[in-house]
Order: sequence, then C-alpha cells, then structure tokens
Amino acid sequence: MPLHVLTHPLAAHIITHLRDKTTKPATFRTLAHQLTLLLAIEATHDIETEEKPIDTPLESITSRVLGPHPLVVVPILRAGLGMVQPFTDLFPDVSVGYVGLERDHETARARNYYCKLPPLVGRHVFVVDPMLATGGSAVQALTVVKTHGATDARLICIVCAPEGLAEVEKHHPGTIIHTAAVDRCLNARKYILPGLGDFGDRLYGT
Ligand code: URA
Repeated sequence: MPLHVLTHPLAAHIITHLRDKTTKPATFRTLAHQLTLLLAIEATHDIETEEKPIDTPLESITSRVLGPHPLVVVPILRAGLGMVQPFTDLFPDVSVGYVGLERDHETARARNYYCKLPPLVGRHVFVVDPMLATGGSAVQALTVVKTHGATDARLICIVCAPEGLAEVEKHHPGTIIHTAAVDRCLNARKYILPGLGDFGDRLYGT
C-alpha cells in the first residue's frame, strides 16, 4: 500500500500535543489545522503544474502555476470537517464535497446518510477523516466517491490504526494514504491506542 507518514519534526511536535489530554479544544483546533496543512502539502506534491509567461520587475520569464485539474476535498462528516479549511487556505479553488456516514446498529456497518459531491471525473479527490480506526467509514467513503466517478481518490488521516489500513487495502488496494502517525492497535471499543481520544469531541469540546 502506498502509505506516506509525515517525517517532519514539526509534525511530531504537533501530534504529541494533540495526543496530550490536557490540550484544550481551541489549541487542539489550531494544531489540527497546522498538521492538516502539512498533510495537504505532502499529499499534493505531485499535482500538475503548467507553464505561464510572466514579467518580473526585471525581465520576462516562463514560470509555473498549478494546472487545470481542480482538486476536490471530501470530508467524512463530522470529524473530517476539521480538515477542510487547510485545503481551502492552500488551494482557494478547491471544491468541497461531503459524505455523511453513521454506524448502522443492525449491521454494524457504516451507512451513508448524506452525500453532496461536485463532479469528480478527472480530478484529484482527497477524502479526509482524522482517525482511521476500523476503516469502515473510509472504505465506504472511497466506494462512494469512486461510484461518483473518482479515479484518483486518496485518503488523508491524522492517525491510522493498522486494522484500518488493512481494511482499506483489502477493499481499495493501492489507495494512496497520507498520515501523521500509524498507532499500535484498536481497543475493545474501537478507539485507537495510544491515539488521541475522540477527535470530534476534542475538536468541538463536546
Ligand atoms: N474515532 C476517534 O475519534 N478516535 C478514535 O480513536 C477512533 C475513532
């Protein structure tokens, strides 16, 4: 599986403070924003650029700007919302789609209760979900975006469990995944260990 784990020292610093249970929601949001900026930069390192002739104050040159393939970021509701703004800050033309998933207590599978997506064909699609735990939601969201035409769908997570990585690889082999950390395992309640707790709760103080 093409798994990319951030190695920048700043990423290690930020993830440590995100894990710290004494970190308050306001700081947690700032840190999550900063870490997602690093992930977004890393995950877009291979997007196309094209030539553009410009005049500097001193001479005319041909330089490079981002190419015409628009980017799409798709947060998995609700916690994925905390990872959208870094993408819009870096790429003001990015389109945003939404996939809402909830656990179906009958089947124990993720059920798609909301889906609002821009055109995905020919675009780079970044599915964002901070915590890749069992992988059920990520698998479902990747299926949804592919059903809507995505051929280049990548997954961006702040923390991954090995179980979630294996599940994504089983259902969507070869998916490019960018993360800041691969943790040890899930506990009996499907939380990531050592993890950082419930990301949505820590983000919104619920
Ligand atoms: N979702 C979270 O917010 N935290 C976990 O540890 C697992 C899933």
